Amino acid sequence: MKPIIGITSDIDENGETFLKADYSRAILRAGGLPVVLPAGLEDIEEICSRIDGLLLTGGEDVNPLLFGEEPKRELGKIAPERDEMEIALAKCAIGKDMPVIGICRGHQILNVALGGTIYQHIYSDLEGPLLQHKQQADRNYPTHTVVVEEGSRLSTYVDGNEVLVNSLHHQAVHDIPKPLVVTARAKDGIIEALESKEHKFVMSVQWHPEALSNRGDETSLRLFEGLVEASKQQ
Ligand code: MN
Repeated sequence: MKPIIGITSDIDENGETFLKADYSRAILRAGGLPVVLPAGLEDIEEICSRIDGLLLTGGEDVNPLLFGEEPKRELGKIAPERDEMEIALAKCAIGKDMPVIGICRGHQILNVALGGTIYQHIYSDLEGPLLQHKQQADRNYPTHTVVVEEGSRLSTYVDGNEVLVNSLHHQAVHDIPKPLVVTARAKDGIIEALESKEHKFVMSVQWHPEALSNRGDETSLRLFEGLVEASKQQ
């Protein structure tokens, strides 16, 4: 049987649940069975007991109150209902050693769920010149390089120690809690990937592999195959 991968979704201003189709496509392509989970706090435990893997998706900024900060002027739109649901689900999944992948906002949510913090706006929170992390190019195209840590799970999906990624963020992870470790950085030092060495498959990326995999990007395809493969053992 194909493993069921729960994919978190968003609510728009009309109150409608939505999700970019690329996430489900990426899971289908990798051999998993995608199930879209609406934001809301009902039945988290039961959802968590029925899925085999979890994909935390991209979206709005994370509510800074969740990591002990007041909102700065540069903070974008937040989604408190989604934050709560995703953090509860991430904690439950990690507690069961379920495979989890965090993408963009999901990478930040994973960090906050485990006790980490976020730069609310990298261009005012950090000194020095930074790269363009909110690319002007279409999201299917990679625009900056990341340097990958040797020995990481991520490195097994990359040819060499660098990979080109797309970039659609103005926030970034800041303090990294145990058991997460940094596995990739952009050339300006921004943390672009995390993983846990203490779990079967817990990893996150700041970029959008679901969009890159539309163009056959090998690293992105391997990332989703890795998640689905690990979820088969759940
Ligand atoms: Mn970036």
